[in-house]
Amino acid sequence: MKKIAVVGTGYVGLVTGTCFAETGNQVTCIDIDAQKVERMLNGEIPIYEPQLDTLFERNLKAGRLKITTDLKEGIQDAEIVFLALPTPPGEDGSADLSYILGVAEHIGKIIEDYKVIVDKSTVPVGTAEKVRAAILKSSKVDFDVVSNPEFLREGFAVEDFMKPERVVVGTSSEKAKKIMGELYQPFVRQGNPIIFMDEKSAELTKYAANSFLAMKITFMNEVANFCELVGADVDMVRIGMGSDSRIGKRFLFPGIGYGGSCFPKDVQALVKSGKDENFNFQILESVMQINETQKTVLLPKMKNYFKGNLSGKKIAVWGLAFKPNTDDIREAPALYMIDGLLKEGAQIAAYDPEAMENVKKQLGDTITYCENEYETLQNADALLICTEWGIFRNPDFNRLKELMNNHAIFDGRNLFDTETVAKQGIYYQSIGREIVGK
Ligand code: NAD
Repeated sequence: MKKIAVVGTGYVGLVTGTCFAETGNQVTCIDIDAQKVERMLNGEIPIYEPQLDTLFERNLKAGRLKITTDLKEGIQDAEIVFLALPTPPGEDGSADLSYILGVAEHIGKIIEDYKVIVDKSTVPVGTAEKVRAAILKSSKVDFDVVSNPEFLREGFAVEDFMKPERVVVGTSSEKAKKIMGELYQPFVRQGNPIIFMDEKSAELTKYAANSFLAMKITFMNEVANFCELVGADVDMVRIGMGSDSRIGKRFLFPGIGYGGSCFPKDVQALVKSGKDENFNFQILESVMQINETQKTVLLPKMKNYFKGNLSGKKIAVWGLAFKPNTDDIREAPALYMIDGLLKEGAQIAAYDPEAMENVKKQLGDTITYCENEYETLQNADALLICTEWGIFRNPDFNRLKELMNNHAIFDGRNLFDTETVAKQGIYYQSIGREIVGK
């Protein structure tokens, strides 16, 4: 049993704290947001993440998980303190370290015995050093700073945390290495590695991994756009390519761009880190540019379909979250499409199984929010699919046709087989595949 504190209870912090409690540790989660803490103390989790509610409730009841707004009270007994704080993009694209360094300075003032301070947030190379310096401003006790980037995926966060493919730990301290090794042992019993390295390499590993994945998606988006020009089918190309084990089947699905709280900001931050060293990450510059265009790639196509005029058209939108199984809408392509459609004078009726509350906070009553996916279709002139939620994959096409004023689907996630939709007599335009039902 280890005593752990987790500062920041967002997607990463809450999952980290809950999963460490689930493996028998004593965990205190600390968050500055008093309302959020209040809700959690009442047993409610502030985010949607499959499986998290059950584990959270169990560990809260068992007393292994405590929650507070008080940093001093939260960390005083802990041997390991995780920083799971936001690192949003600053104005110049670099990661904003003010949350992390602010908390680090505060920790320096209040620690009274040895602690391992762990950067779990995604942070640029050199941050561990900055955290150490921030703590050292006031601390008189011994401590270590470790970089332990998190690789969980929203929507599979608990699963990923409990069974990580690898754990990366960056530290030059033997004492911290031993503590971190013991802590993660229950999570790697199937033999997946805990990879120890220096702090800087650990920090860069996370950015390099996310940037590579963003690049992989973007590459396929470009291939898809080219497929449309030459009449090739991106699905076939994807399957043909992906069966080469050097390439792999995953992350080859084209669509309307990557979004979320990680890829966009991490690619941008790595490019900025490069610039700071007079290094030009050319490949990532292109990735960012291409993704920017890809998010609204269906907009000119929709406009073209409606003979240049989207004004007054009623568009049903399925999916608002940046990907399925999450309520996270940060940098969601759906929002870029909606913004473009509203500017063109279209009316939007949208549905998402989990993300509607978050969208309401951002878009207010500029769009209509529906109870389910079929309600959006009432008198719609077109359906736009932005997120590949499972429930959208197998619609009742007859009901869809009955409800819609005009039978057209623009699919940003290639959910349907083109032939199936063609048989329904519906106009269907997706990404990198032939347009059917013309
Ligand atoms: P988040 O915005 O969901 O959560 C951050 C939490 O920190 C919030 O609850 C906020 O109230 C709290 N907070 C802010 N300032 C605080 C302070 N001074 N003291 C205590 N709490 C404070 O962020 P997230 O998505 O969990 O991401 C955290 C970090 O992890 C980021 O660096 C992110 O890049 C990285 N990361 C995120 C994911 C993901 O899928 N979301 C995956 C891997 C890594």
